[in-house]
Amino acid sequence: MRAMVMTEVPDGVSRQALSLQQRPQPEPQGPFDVVVRVAAAGVCRSDLHILMGELPATVPHVLGHENSGWVHAVGPMVSAVQVGEPVLCYPFVSDGLSPPERRGIDSAAPARRTPGIDCDGGYADYLLVTERSLIPLPGDADLAAMATLSDAGLAAYRACRKAAAVLGPGSLAVVVGVGGLGHLAVQILRALCPARILAVDTREEARKLAVACGAHDACSPSDLDAVAGATADAVIDFVGSDESASSALAGLGFGGSYFAVGVGGTLSTPILQLVANETRIEGVYVGTYPELVELTQLALSGEVRPVVVPYALGDADQALRDLAGGSIVGRAVLVP
Ligand code: ZN
Repeated sequence: MRAMVMTEVPDGVSRQALSLQQRPQPEPQGPFDVVVRVAAAGVCRSDLHILMGELPATVPHVLGHENSGWVHAVGPMVSAVQVGEPVLCYPFVSDGLSPPERRGIDSAAPARRTPGIDCDGGYADYLLVTERSLIPLPGDADLAAMATLSDAGLAAYRACRKAAAVLGPGSLAVVVGVGGLGHLAVQILRALCPARILAVDTREEARKLAVACGAHDACSPSDLDAVAGATADAVIDFVGSDESASSALAGLGFGGSYFAVGVGGTLSTPILQLVANETRIEGVYVGTYPELVELTQLALSGEVRPVVVPYALGDADQALRDLAGGSIVGRAVLVP
């Protein structure tokens, strides 16, 4: 079995930080009962955060938590999928028995495993998962594009669904960061609500992508105040820096909602401002299996079209470097 075990870190990454996270890799536990032959594995900024020691992760392990492929082999009790079937991999592997899972929140299951985060993931030819985490796909589905839905798309979808609840006709939604998640969020918002969409990104190519994806307008962060003022009904922040958070809060109108998806910065704001403006602040962490099923339908119907930048599996280091350097427009995927 070929797999890209990450031994090299991108430029500027702290090896000291990485070593802080190193501990013995546990034996795979839980209900792994399906081997998937990987079709594509998305390259996520979380992979960079893991390499930089900014996210808790068990290392060494094979990265890749955003995967699609074909069922290669199944255990004797598997009945939901068949060998050869194309599938999308929901990121969490668990048995479904805990109270959070009973409510559909597998991301909070106490005994969950997350291939690519705490056990071997999809930067490989084959991947161990469970039938409970798989979504069967049609035979003609674009598996490289579909892979991006399972993490980038799913987090964007959950944020957009929350935002859409407060976005009626004439409202303004601001999408901060038009990368792997943001370009999907623009399309999802168009599909879910009638809001006017303003996309914000430092990169001109990303702003062009946002408009191509359906944003009504796009600007750089430095122009946000001049373009929108304090009028946004919802801001979805895929950057998560100190600067993006503070400018997002400043851009909200009365009763506006700030949804944090990207991570890295710290939110700091006077409580008086929150009270006076009745500001709502909410974090968004990945999403549920049913939400991924809904998003899959949007993609299969052509309402959401992931923009994919393919790399060969052997070029994983280059893909991570390009992501760190900001040169990827859309979502990078590794194709074995
Ligand atoms: Zn991710």
